Amino acid sequence: MPSAYEIIDHDFDVVVVGAGGAGLRATFGMVAEGLSTACVTKVFPTRSHTVAAQGGIGAALGNMAEDSWQWHMYDTVKGSDWLGDQDAIEYMCREAIPAVYELEHYGVPFSRTEDGKIYQRPFGGHMRNFGEAPVQRACAAADRTGHAILHTLYQQSLKHNAQFFVEYFALDLIMDADGTCRGVVAWNLDDGTIHRFNAKLTVLATGGYGRAYFSCTSAHTCTGDGNAMAARAGLPLQDMEFVQFHPTGVYGSGCLITEGARGEGGYLTNSQGERFMERYAPTAKDLASRDVVSRAMTMEIREGRGVGKDGDHINLHLEHLGGEVLHQRLPGITETARVFAGVDASKEPIPVLPTVHYNMGGVPTNYMGEVLRPTADDPDAVCPGLMAIGEAACVSVHGANRLGTNSLLDLVVFGRAAAHRATQIIKTPGAANPPLPADAAEPALNRLDRLRHADGSRLTAEVRLDLQKAMQKDAAVFRTAQTLKEGVENVAAIAGQMGDLKLADRSMIFNTDLVEALELDNLMPCALTTIVSAEARQESRGAHAHEDFQERDDANWMKHSLAWMEGETKVRLGYRPVHTYTLSDDVAYIEPQKRVY
Ligand SMILES: Cc1cc2nc3c(=O)[nH]c(=O)nc-3n(C[C@H](O)[C@H](O)[C@H](O)COP(=O)(O)OP(=O)(O)OC[C@H]3O[C@@H](n4cnc5c(N)ncnc54)[C@H](O)[C@@H]3O)c2cc1C
Repeated sequence: MPSAYEIIDHDFDVVVVGAGGAGLRATFGMVAEGLSTACVTKVFPTRSHTVAAQGGIGAALGNMAEDSWQWHMYDTVKGSDWLGDQDAIEYMCREAIPAVYELEHYGVPFSRTEDGKIYQRPFGGHMRNFGEAPVQRACAAADRTGHAILHTLYQQSLKHNAQFFVEYFALDLIMDADGTCRGVVAWNLDDGTIHRFNAKLTVLATGGYGRAYFSCTSAHTCTGDGNAMAARAGLPLQDMEFVQFHPTGVYGSGCLITEGARGEGGYLTNSQGERFMERYAPTAKDLASRDVVSRAMTMEIREGRGVGKDGDHINLHLEHLGGEVLHQRLPGITETARVFAGVDASKEPIPVLPTVHYNMGGVPTNYMGEVLRPTADDPDAVCPGLMAIGEAACVSVHGANRLGTNSLLDLVVFGRAAAHRATQIIKTPGAANPPLPADAAEPALNRLDRLRHADGSRLTAEVRLDLQKAMQKDAAVFRTAQTLKEGVENVAAIAGQMGDLKLADRSMIFNTDLVEALELDNLMPCALTTIVSAEARQESRGAHAHEDFQERDDANWMKHSLAWMEGETKVRLGYRPVHTYTLSDDVAYIEPQKRVY
């Protein structure tokens, strides 16, 4: 029996966990459709990581030059290295255009062209006419696009009177014996009460798990809580081996310098002053997709052409753009360069290094946001009562490598899709839900208790650092059979130490010691499924660059990895087929090709 907690019950049509771009778009979409909706979030909505997105949101508006959503679809399929599901990609790229106009009408203050249209900049991997030359597709609000979008979505949520539970930490899903999701258990950080949300639908919108790595661009809150909740509920995580490194994290701090900087004309050089991307990607050059640029930078450094006294990073040049362009189009990153690298970007290059940026993997869903629980007979079987959207989900539109600007897009397109689907699933909005079993919160509270009273020998921060260093070393830009094998052993050994944790604070009121321990407990299954799935995949595809298997192997590996947690340290793997079909009859499936830029 867990300790005595004050338990408060709620009854909603829908509970959304997360108030980033995905969670907010779903929340007010649900309310607008007449569904009673709670939005539970561990940080204030506008502090979600979406606020940090810089470069833009992709949509083939064609405001600067001719563009088409079919080209956008082709680029996304190619960017995914043919691991993306083409029905979902078609849906996203087609819906991108109305989705961005919708954002504009909600009030997002996009930058403007001379004639008042939404300003669009080039971005990595986005090309015109099926790979011919870079195209301007990234709709931008200077270099603070995520900030503009998140604040607007929050305003819309307030306008629709969505009900927020702010600074509530969701602990675990409530699952029925038959595998239906019935809601979620959350801890109110402010007063220590426990809340059981009984809901017809639960939506995970908890973001990524960048913090499993030592150097990452994501916020400290990006700890894969939703992924871990799904894993603990017996659901698989999909394609976790695909972790995106962004080419330009600031050397030392990891803070992001948007790809929009290269979109505006910035370029990379090595210690010889050479613009080396011309050798690796003759057409797209510095605007090749992220995995390609990150690998090229790593190769340059390895071959002794890195810059700095240790030859361990690369220079990003923006000096030639001039103060005016930097001020207008890239004010945020100019400031970042000054604060985090001590560099005046209008005069000197910014020192950069590939840094973990995005998780392609997550909770598997279909393009309507419903979570999948694949069976032997039906790889697309649905887990009733549960949805997932945003970076926590794997739809899969990004496949083995996400294109820049396609995540903000994914948030709004699938956030809205989830709201539409919810109205089809929930037949009688407002009807009271069957009561939860008396012990519905018990598994969650037992876990909470275990951590809260942990009295072993290791601090959360120590174990976390071990994990982050192991992941950085063993599941890096380049991987080998050897590093991955060692990685599996190392990460499992570190996960095994969760039983030896020591907490100092045992209170329930804003206990950040306990929050961090819970977050570490959530990072563990994310890291384990990542490294185990990576070790098994004997090919190179997208962000998974395996030095012992350097080619993509469609015959054996064009399939999604599925990883189930078995206990605290073991992972069981399975696979499901990639969707090799589109949504509409008049849209052709894009056949696999060699991926060159
Ligand atoms: C620095 C940076 C720049 C980027 N730039 C771009 C860009 O220009 N274009 C682009 O397309 N993409 C960009 N991305 C990627 C994109 O911003 C993210 O993938 C996306 O914002 C994730 O949104 P989300 O809604 O899924 O999650 P988040 O915005 O991370 O929000 C997660 C939410 O879940 C809540 N939550 C998590 N765990 C719990 C819990 N246990 N209990 C309660 N609540 C919880 C949090 O409180 C938060 O509200 C960038 C990412 C970074 C890090």
